Amino acid sequence: MLQTPEVSMTSVDLEFDQLNSTVDALRRSISNRLMYGVGKDAVTAQPRDWLHAAELAVRDRLVARWMRTTRLQYEQDVKRVYYLSMEFLIGRTFTNALLALGIYDEVRDALAGLGVDLAALEELEPDAALGNGGLGRLAACFLDSMATVGVPGFGYGIRYEYGMFRQTVVDGNQVEMPDYWLRAGNPWEFPRPEVVYTVHFGGRTVQHEDRTDWIDTEHVNAMAYDTVIPGFATTATNTLRLWSARATDEFDLSAFNQGDYRRAVEAKNTSEHVSRLLYPDDSTQAGRELRLRQEYFFVSATMQDLIRRYQRTHTHFGRLAEKVAVHLNDTHPVLAIPELMRLLVDRHRVPWDKAWKLIQQMFSYTNHTLMPEALETWDVEMLARLLPRHLEIIFEINAQFLKQVTEKFGRDVELIRRISLVDEYGQRRVRMAHLAIVASHKVNGVSKLHSQLMVQNIFSDFARMYPERFTNVTNGITPRRWLAQASPSLSSLIDKRLGPRWRTDLFELGRLREWRDDPEFCKAFHEAKFANKLRLVERAKRDANAIINPEALFDLQVKRIHEYKRQLLNILYVIVRYNRIRENPEKDWTPRVVMFAGKAASAYKMAKNIIKLINDVAKKINADPLVGDRLKVGFIPNYGVSVAELIIPAADLSEQISMAGTEASGTGNMKLALNGALTIGTLDGANIEICDAVGRENIFIFGNTTDEIESLRAAGYRPRQIYEENPELKVALDQIRLGHFSPEEPHRFYDIFHTLVDWGDHYMVLADFDSFDKTQTEVDLKYRDKDAWTKSAIENVAGMGIFSSDRTIAEYARDIWHVEPLQVT
Ligand SMILES: *Cc1c(COP(=O)(O)O)cnc(C)c1O
Repeated sequence: MLQTPEVSMTSVDLEFDQLNSTVDALRRSISNRLMYGVGKDAVTAQPRDWLHAAELAVRDRLVARWMRTTRLQYEQDVKRVYYLSMEFLIGRTFTNALLALGIYDEVRDALAGLGVDLAALEELEPDAALGNGGLGRLAACFLDSMATVGVPGFGYGIRYEYGMFRQTVVDGNQVEMPDYWLRAGNPWEFPRPEVVYTVHFGGRTVQHEDRTDWIDTEHVNAMAYDTVIPGFATTATNTLRLWSARATDEFDLSAFNQGDYRRAVEAKNTSEHVSRLLYPDDSTQAGRELRLRQEYFFVSATMQDLIRRYQRTHTHFGRLAEKVAVHLNDTHPVLAIPELMRLLVDRHRVPWDKAWKLIQQMFSYTNHTLMPEALETWDVEMLARLLPRHLEIIFEINAQFLKQVTEKFGRDVELIRRISLVDEYGQRRVRMAHLAIVASHKVNGVSKLHSQLMVQNIFSDFARMYPERFTNVTNGITPRRWLAQASPSLSSLIDKRLGPRWRTDLFELGRLREWRDDPEFCKAFHEAKFANKLRLVERAKRDANAIINPEALFDLQVKRIHEYKRQLLNILYVIVRYNRIRENPEKDWTPRVVMFAGKAASAYKMAKNIIKLINDVAKKINADPLVGDRLKVGFIPNYGVSVAELIIPAADLSEQISMAGTEASGTGNMKLALNGALTIGTLDGANIEICDAVGRENIFIFGNTTDEIESLRAAGYRPRQIYEENPELKVALDQIRLGHFSPEEPHRFYDIFHTLVDWGDHYMVLADFDSFDKTQTEVDLKYRDKDAWTKSAIENVAGMGIFSSDRTIAEYARDIWHVEPLQVT
């Protein structure tokens, strides 16, 4: 760290105001913050100024708790968790903080007293969208739960200036807009200009007798920004520390003096690119040097920070693993392993074997995908150029590992080739997942099925080598954001029956079953759901001028657009349903509104074409007078955390229809069930555990299982045969092929047709179509029986206890991190 002399550190007791949270006190605080924090008065203040003033007043009330938690952690010398993630998909913070502090009503009234509407301010806050999808949202739910459960932990990541792109839909096509979320400033973060570490790239290594030096490097500084993460209904807080790149030299003064202003700032700009932008994909390896730089940048700063914090209270590294757990959220932060080895061995002169033992005790790794093509690897050549010392360390780790493999299994060349950290086939590449497994004491999957398939398939060699290392921790979601915040109507109904404790003990929801047969409760439940549907109907009217019938079944598929998630299966069914309605409009159809939302990676052409197809189909169906209210199709733009909070509580039906064996867990499925939607889903990821939790009669399961998919493939899957044998499916596919939905460009969906019919249908859409179709008929029938539907919806909410991320975090704390909650009394 760049040391500034710490002459100003004193132990004087500060005299500061203890802020209370009565309406009067809050009104005064907000007024003060508007004046002295924002620099406006009531005459000049714009809505955004009021938002900032209110945010600062709320933030002030978090800071005292934050200082106290930090001091307690220090005094109790607790073991800390470093949760490393390239992504944190946080969404908005204001409402979340108000609920955590229990001052929502007070702030609303204080603002009302100032003539300001809280609800209007809430909508002005930009989402912190520093993530792509499920993986990043999981990290955000975990931060919330760690703070609430009292696990002393830090989130570590990158302070991207541009987060996930904003999606607009123009003529049915996705158009990406940059998300400069920091434009109006971020009141939730504290810049820490004194917490700066230098991160090196390039150069070469020099071997001395007793050590290795890494020299002639270029560098960039990493500066910390801290965000307080409040625990719910506890004074415990945690910290999210995000790194921002700063040039080591502001600019080239001699170039500047010679009048070459462009060149003077060029180096500064280039080195600062590393924290500029979130990589626009979470499932395919981008293979770009900047991405590798990002990964190393944030883990290097984090490992330096870890060592500095440990050394404040310890004189040698003997107890490092007792005091620190490092968790890798997928393989993106795996370079933390060779980086910490480098710091311990090269910089702090810890013997290699001792350092390696410490690392294996400290590190753990969560795998998020079973698809081999999504496992991250890096070119040896690129690593040699950018991180030559780390590559040496990785080679040394590999040599020792392969020696152990040979000791255990004898000389098995094929095994060595498969299990090595280096893929020697063609262009040599380092397999990041292999490095993560070798360095970790625990490796977990994110649902029972995924953890089981992980050891059977992609990591079977490692499971033989280290059987005790593999475990499961099923994902979860925070009930504070996904029920309390997203659905005030359902929350207050539950509060009336159960009191407020479910927010921190989600198993409490199980008691809702007691009222399942109580007509009054069922009616109130139905009304709470209906209120959420109306909220969405009004927003659709306001923002898209769309008229939706709130009595219709709201059918939602909201998630990233990806072939494996099979939005195509859903839209194919919509087309078949549309054709049936046109054939037989007088039949007693169950009205449906089918809604899609989700972003496609900007380089993923097929996914973008699927968005276009959904919009073309929607346009045709919605304009067809013969169809009317019986079927409506919508694509809701810019899916993100805030959009999810609006639409998930309005869903009746949750589409979780990935091909079995491809969705590691899913968390959208949990959010929807928690909000009383019934799932139509395959036996994939956490759907299986949702089925167990809510009961088979309260969920619609369809499609081939993982075993059946495997047999189908082995027997030679022939999608064209299905196409030819199912006349309705054939008509729908031909309509896609022949431009029925795109007459202005008949060949627009040529690739989609052939992917499904002639090019192997890799995700087995056609194989599951018939089963999906029949199951959708069951859905219709059940929806027509309002009471039966509501009962099942209640059973879904009641069964969600196990999917609280508090449970998930408790399992990580107990089985993987071995940390105890902080004593905050
Ligand atoms: C929960 C969530 C996801 C993950 O959804 P899946 O259906 O599990 O893929 C993605 N994006 C956002 C904004 C979310 O809130």
